Amino acid sequence: MVRNLHLNFLFKKEGTRVEPESESVCLAAALASAESQKGRNARIVGLSSVSFPFWIVQTSPTKSIVLNASSSGRKEFHFTEMKGASEVRRIIGSDLSQATDIPKVASKIQPLLESVDSHKTDIANLAEPSFIRAIGNFVRASDPTAKPNRVEIRSDSAAALKRTEEFRKISESAKLRIESAETLQKLIKENYGAQTTILENITNLERDRGNERVRMMEERTRQEIAKLTKAKENKLYDLREKHKMNLRAMTADFSRAINDLEQFFTEIVDEIRKARSQIGQKETDTEGAISVYSNLASSLKGTLANTQQPLDMMEMKKAGLEKRVAEAQTRFESDQMEAESLLQTEIQEHQRRIDASRNEMELKAKELDELKAQVNAAISKSEQSIEKRVLEFQQEFLNLMNWTLDNNSIRDLAPLTLLDIHTYVAKYDDKSHRVLTPCLLPEESLLTMGGDTLSKEFDAAIKASIDDLLRSDQSYKESFGRACMKGNMLLAAEAEQLLVQGLEELLRKRILQRDDIERLLTVWSRYSGKCPKCGAVVEAGAQFCQKCGMELTE
Ligand SMILES: [Zn+2]
Repeated sequence: MVRNLHLNFLFKKEGTRVEPESESVCLAAALASAESQKGRNARIVGLSSVSFPFWIVQTSPTKSIVLNASSSGRKEFHFTEMKGASEVRRIIGSDLSQATDIPKVASKIQPLLESVDSHKTDIANLAEPSFIRAIGNFVRASDPTAKPNRVEIRSDSAAALKRTEEFRKISESAKLRIESAETLQKLIKENYGAQTTILENITNLERDRGNERVRMMEERTRQEIAKLTKAKENKLYDLREKHKMNLRAMTADFSRAINDLEQFFTEIVDEIRKARSQIGQKETDTEGAISVYSNLASSLKGTLANTQQPLDMMEMKKAGLEKRVAEAQTRFESDQMEAESLLQTEIQEHQRRIDASRNEMELKAKELDELKAQVNAAISKSEQSIEKRVLEFQQEFLNLMNWTLDNNSIRDLAPLTLLDIHTYVAKYDDKSHRVLTPCLLPEESLLTMGGDTLSKEFDAAIKASIDDLLRSDQSYKESFGRACMKGNMLLAAEAEQLLVQGLEELLRKRILQRDDIERLLTVWSRYSGKCPKCGAVVEAGAQFCQKCGMELTE
């Protein structure tokens, strides 16, 4: 069920491949490293082989989470939830029947889209997985008989599976929140979109209708004005004809007036003619003839005295005619002007009506534009809010997924894997300790060890994580102390033989010189078999220091 993998303490390069080193070489390298990294005048009091166990559990076919099997820490996650989603759906379903409803609907759903409930949830033992990812290539299957000296496991496989279940549930619900927000986003977009399309169509229709109405009015006006212009021309013709007739009548009248003048002189001529006729009949009666003439002369004298009168009459008639002609001319001109101005008034009236229609149309278009602007502003506000929700939920999900590892980043990963990270812990008599993390065997000299890490990220992360737990988790600190004591090679019976084998191997590889070996063996004999507390020599396999009473094995 549980697959056991481990990360060896030391690796060697063989061509392009990297292989784990043997236990004896590991010990020799750990001693050299512990010695080279100790403070001045410090003394090594413990050199322990310690394994740090991690659970790697698959949460999906592609992802796993990493759990620190020894710690009891909890990782907290914060999530938000949109409580008003169903209310938003209800409002859109019931309150949105036309585009003009959008601003009101948007302001109703706005607070619902913006308000979120926050909640937090935590998962025990969850470890940041990136440092494990960094050493995936170095991990190997463990020997089934191996018994690594682990910092005590405090969450077993059942607990690890339970954590996985919790993680899966949390990530499922985070995913569901994204899906439901996206569904809501789609619903809002579609419903708003349908109404704005209708509004757009109405606006276009309204504009087309308005344009058509104005065009028809202009056409009708053109015809009307042509008709009126024709009527005006007729009227002007009539006026001209009437004026001419008027003048003719006045001339005729004037001509009749001159009859009187003619009558006056005709009567004189008749009287003269009558006298001539009478005188002609007198024949011998000369006196009678003279008498007729004398009567005529005296009559003519009286009549001729009145000759000025008919001329004066004619002068008056002439003046009257001139006056009437002037009046008729004035009336004719004013009638003409009236006809012209009547037409202009009609034309202006038509133009005014067209302008009024056009203004009305523009006003309506402006109103529709304002409505559209309002609707669009409302739409973008709603869409921004729901977009923000979706992005937040996605971010929350991504934050959670940052705590997962790709299953293929470690070879041979099983659904439930226990990974042991093998280290050495060096303890010094100044109470300090150093965790010697897995590394590559240097190609030249062991004494400059430190630069050949497997991964700087892994190194820094695992050291920081151990330091952090030692500070914050008392029971972890105790487990760590017990593991250091139990795995202390300086008190282990078989350790010296192992060390010698390792040193010989390093000599063969020309990584150590003969005098390096002498020096390291001297160091070993100075530290091994001594009580870590008081430095007194202790017998191999002793349970307590005989001098200070310190417990030496678990
Ligand atoms: Zn002691």
